[in-house]
Amino acid sequence: MFEALSGKLNGVFDRLRRRGALTEADVAEASREVRIALLEADVALPVVKDIVAKVRERAVGQEVLRSVSPAQQVIKIVNDCLVEALGGGEGVEHVPGISLNAASPVPILMVGLQGSGKTTTSGKIALRLRTREKKKVLLASLDVHRPAAQLQLETLAKQAGVTSLPIIQGQSPLEIAQRAMQVARGELYDVVILDTAGRLSIDEALMEEVAQVKAATRPHESLLVVDAMTGQDAVQTARAFNERVGITGIVMTRIDGDARGGAALSMRAVTGAPIKLLGAGEKLEALEDFHPDRIAGRILG
Ligand code: GDP
Repeated sequence: MFEALSGKLNGVFDRLRRRGALTEADVAEASREVRIALLEADVALPVVKDIVAKVRERAVGQEVLRSVSPAQQVIKIVNDCLVEALGGGEGVEHVPGISLNAASPVPILMVGLQGSGKTTTSGKIALRLRTREKKKVLLASLDVHRPAAQLQLETLAKQAGVTSLPIIQGQSPLEIAQRAMQVARGELYDVVILDTAGRLSIDEALMEEVAQVKAATRPHESLLVVDAMTGQDAVQTARAFNERVGITGIVMTRIDGDARGGAALSMRAVTGAPIKLLGAGEKLEALEDFHPDRIAGRILG
């Protein structure tokens, strides 16, 4: 793991040929390589700066160990800083996944831009909750702007073996959400997944619609679905949804692609919300728990 950065850091320390403790100068050169590696992995600049500062603070003055090379030593520090920034680390109990710790029916609100994988992820979560947790799940599409999206969710619900709320033409997203909660209460569902409409870009009308649905249904989880491939744009999306709607967690999709995953770090830093799940393919089974150490490894390449 971390071959690219490791190679560069070896170069740095070979040139320096120092013994004893890591000096300020050693660490300054190493930091430059760390900074480039993080930027290449799509981590947003302010977040890169924070992490590099932390790495410096921990590395300067550290005794060079006999058992590992200075490069490996610095990489261990970088890795630890990344894992911590992603919500993991020693002594931190990392609990991935969705919380259902509320009275039934538990509403889960799905938000995000169009094409992020929101509807697919709603189906994936429904399947997981039904099969792993034996929950009775109701899926409802609030996307009145795109009838195709409503039909897509209906198809996904069938594949996941759960029910989708019957479509009634002419209802507003708010009305659909309220009807979903009413049906869920009457028919004793455990969980209601509300799949809100996405737009190609963040706009006020979308945010207002989502905020209204949230106020009316008071979801236990508001999950932002973001495409890992969107890199730096993911940060703007996360910031906007968090400020306007408020999110409790993030699902990062398309982790099966070649994105390095730096967006996870930036989104977590900007919103403070944990990454809860990863989408790793088009199939409904392709949903993974989030492990900070695995993404840290991926970011460092
Ligand atoms: P929405 O507009 O946000 O609801 O997005 P969709 O759920 O319709 O997904 C858009 C496309 O992305 C579909 O073709 C999905 O099959 C695909 N997709 C969703 N999640 C993933 C993922 O984790 N990996 C890959 N490779 N494709 C995904």
